[in-house]
Amino acid sequence: MPKVITLPGDGIGPEITAAAAQVLREVAPDVTLEEHALGGGAYDVYGDPFPQRTRDALSEADAVLLGTVGGAQDSPWNKLPRPQRPESGLLALRKALGCYANLRPVRVQPGLEHLSPLKPELARGVDILIVRELLGGIYFDQDRKIEGDAAYNTMRYTTPEVERVARVAFWAAEQRRGRVTSVDKANVLEVSELWRRDVQALRDRSYRGIHLNHEYVDSVAMLIVSNPSRYDVILTENLFGDILSDLAAVIPGSLGVMPSASLGDGAGLFEPIHGSAPDIAGQGVANPAAAILSAAMLLRHGLKRPDAANQVDRAVAFALRSHPTRDLGGQADTGTFTRAVLEALDTSP
Ligand code: ATP
Ligand code: MG
Repeated sequence: MPKVITLPGDGIGPEITAAAAQVLREVAPDVTLEEHALGGGAYDVYGDPFPQRTRDALSEADAVLLGTVGGAQDSPWNKLPRPQRPESGLLALRKALGCYANLRPVRVQPGLEHLSPLKPELARGVDILIVRELLGGIYFDQDRKIEGDAAYNTMRYTTPEVERVARVAFWAAEQRRGRVTSVDKANVLEVSELWRRDVQALRDRSYRGIHLNHEYVDSVAMLIVSNPSRYDVILTENLFGDILSDLAAVIPGSLGVMPSASLGDGAGLFEPIHGSAPDIAGQGVANPAAAILSAAMLLRHGLKRPDAANQVDRAVAFALRSHPTRDLGGQADTGTFTRAVLEALDTSP
């Protein structure tokens, strides 16, 4: 029986994770859910934002469903030494899982086009998946130094690093519209030349059904906001992906509907991209859509159950139209929205 560890965390995390767990129980009743502590609440109880018992539980997990961690700006947690702060628990968790691919869908949900800063005709139908390399590149390479009035960092990739993240992108594209755009700066960077060569070679070897093209990062930055519908899956290295994914995250116009997944060789981590929203925590009004959509990604990528994932995606799209939450200009609270999702699960084919 598959086992999913839930880490509700702080702020609105427990409310939205409870909603997502309810949906998971409904569509995957054979899956065991086991709750553990992470973040500020974990520090309060165990004196550690990533307690040993949480760490131990990961080894038996098939996937991890995370809520949100951290408190308000004036929270006492922020006066702790850095390693004891909630965010350090999250960083330590990510490190322990060793996920090398970060997946961020950027989707304008039908009926929510008016929230997007883009013109409705540009926003309509946007459905992009950004696959970002997460463990390599310029952020992590140890060949780095600042000395006097000179400094440098190094963007380095190896073929195995490129291939493992490219496989994730190709696999995801097979389940979508079959197109991958690989991002690089191959006109000026040797590391991009290798990236482009290896991604193309892998496509030619193992993913002949995928349509692959290569675009420069500066061009993608323009086109992702001026013509976002041209993209299906975007594959990118770490630094370019960091910038492009935050840029693209603005397109839907609402944080409350954006899930993410981080995948490695072990258990994957599935979480909303928004923060702990301390301003509305505990009021039962948070939008659980991002958490529920993260559970759908868990079904798709963590447990390899695409049918159940599609069922949840459809039910959320329906509930967003019928029962929008307050952050979307509607009236529904967390419970009402979640019930609407559960009902839509039953009725959708
Ligand atoms: P971080 O915790 O990463 O620093 P942040 O403080 O920048 O994040 P959030 O905590 O995501 O941002 O909150 C930003 C605003 O969006 C807040 O007003 C918050 O209430 C609102 N918000 C975020 N997520 C949700 C949600 N799921 N439902 C309703 N409102 C939300
Ligand atoms: Mg915050």
